[in-house]
Amino acid sequence: MNLWNKLMCYSRRRSPWLFHMNSGSCNGCDIELVASLTPRYDAEQLGVRLEGSPRHADILCVTGPVTRNAVGAIKTVYSQVCGPKAVVAIGSCPATTNVFIDSRTLDGPLDKHIPVDVYVPGCPPRPDAIVQGVARAAQILADRAANKPVVEVKAELPTEEVRQ
Ligand code: SF4
Repeated sequence: MNLWNKLMCYSRRRSPWLFHMNSGSCNGCDIELVASLTPRYDAEQLGVRLEGSPRHADILCVTGPVTRNAVGAIKTVYSQVCGPKAVVAIGSCPATTNVFIDSRTLDGPLDKHIPVDVYVPGCPPRPDAIVQGVARAAQILADRAANKPVVEVKAELPTEEVRQ
């Protein structure tokens, strides 16, 4: 790997930019995502930044159980994030469609439509769990950019140190 690629891997791991997409959530997870960026949980100290355009982002964070209306937009936004990219499913809704499982307005879960790299469980998940999920996605990005094998992590709960 040349110096430029090493620098890119380092930046991806140390400063992941996020794009947030709501696929029909109740807003509980969205509020927790915003809380994770506030000074109390301070994801920005890890270099995390919320971006307004998927074209500038490295990580796509999806909340909500994936309504039929949202499917097209999810696929479009996913295709607009430049590679290497990672997807974080925030909350139980995108992972399983949660309590809305039998709704005829849904077409979830999320991994039916796009590949998901990290699942952050909870309804809603705590901000520290979201920070941990994003940190894991940043590591996956760096591994992908370096062509290293990525270890699949389906669910991660915050450790005791992160909770304090
Ligand atoms: S996981 Fe819970 S809090 Fe999050 S969008 Fe679904 S119902 Fe709302």
